[in-house]
Amino acid sequence: MAYLMDDNAMRICIRPRPWNEKELPHLAQHTPTPIFLGDGNFSAARKPLPGGAIREIVEVIDNRQIDFDKPEAGSETKRGAVGGRRYKNRRYVFDHVFKMEATQEQVYQNTAKPLLDGVLKGYNATVFAYGATGCGKTHTISGCADDPGVIVRTMSDLFELIEESKDRYETQLEVLMVEIYNETIRDLLHDEFPAPMPPGGLKLLENEKERVTIAEVTIRTPQSVGEVMELVLLGNERRSTSYTESNSVSSRSHAVLQINVSRKSKSPDVDMDNDAVSQDSSSATLSIIDLAGSERAAATRNMGDRMKEGANINKSLLALSSCISALCGAQRNGSKPHVPYRNSKLTRLLKFSLGGNCRTVMIVCVSPSSKDMEDTSNTLVWADRAKSV
Ligand code: ADP
Ligand code: MG
Repeated sequence: MAYLMDDNAMRICIRPRPWNEKELPHLAQHTPTPIFLGDGNFSAARKPLPGGAIREIVEVIDNRQIDFDKPEAGSETKRGAVGGRRYKNRRYVFDHVFKMEATQEQVYQNTAKPLLDGVLKGYNATVFAYGATGCGKTHTISGCADDPGVIVRTMSDLFELIEESKDRYETQLEVLMVEIYNETIRDLLHDEFPAPMPPGGLKLLENEKERVTIAEVTIRTPQSVGEVMELVLLGNERRSTSYTESNSVSSRSHAVLQINVSRKSKSPDVDMDNDAVSQDSSSATLSIIDLAGSERAAATRNMGDRMKEGANINKSLLALSSCISALCGAQRNGSKPHVPYRNSKLTRLLKFSLGGNCRTVMIVCVSPSSKDMEDTSNTLVWADRAKSV
């Protein structure tokens, strides 16, 4: 397989959510996520800063650059007035940085939209939302009926593109939605809830045609944007209410939506034995993924193996980071990458949708509030490393 990792193979976009907590009252109730301190104890990651003042710690400079933790205007010294902490004062450059007030449509236009053309031509593509819990991943990917996110906008455009080309192509759209929680794959769109499944969850199957499929998963064929939104809301509701400890579960599970697009040319003189003509049928998968909260992965950086088990960190999220590093490293030195896809369910599922004949967009969600400084810092450092140089 050709490893087509050109400039656009992995785009990293940053989306800061609005920071004014008064505008987002639910956020005030967000409980701090416990993180590992390295001395056998867990503690709150989101300690208020000494001095207590909450301020905005990211500044969007333009559509490529974002500043993190600058000294406040008027402050003479680089040593922070707040608790004597030294400001990190770093500028990051990414493929795209959204303004805090960016609309769902602007986010869609600059992330998933440019992938659709390739998907209709048979190239797999993947869109991720990465970031700590509460930073806007689900808002970005799913949104709500009044202000839908990437999934619904993508499907809406796909319906339109299919309609426009219906004289030339017969196109089929299939949708599935699963959750990966504790390395178990669960169906989110089954008629029954909870969905019946084999012990250990749904199984992944790899076929010769470089496709990974999920055995016995429910396939839906929505016909309208309204139906798509219903499926998304149903899936998300099941994702967060299926367990007793619902808050922590939704932050530790990956919600994976896959859209399979297959099309056949309708031209009458098609000769099925002719190679050139066989290109007139294509099939590709667009995966749109609301990842588990990144706070736990960051907290485990200095842990031994035994401790990792105890902390119940997210295997799929760590494996994804390793695969991205391997793909980026290989791109830098021009070698064929050895990518550790087999290390987790998420990366096995995406084996042919990361690298290879595929485009990937990472939407990195961050909070601009000083309350979430550690998470935002870890997330930006992660995104900076994931950049294909
Ligand atoms: P996550 O899925 O990363 O845990 P959510 O998407 O649930 O975070 O966001 C937390 C809250 O903040 C939600 O109520 C969401 O509606 C709100 N929110 C997040 N991003 C934005 C945004 N860009 N604009 C308006 N509200 C947002
Ligand atoms: Mg969420």
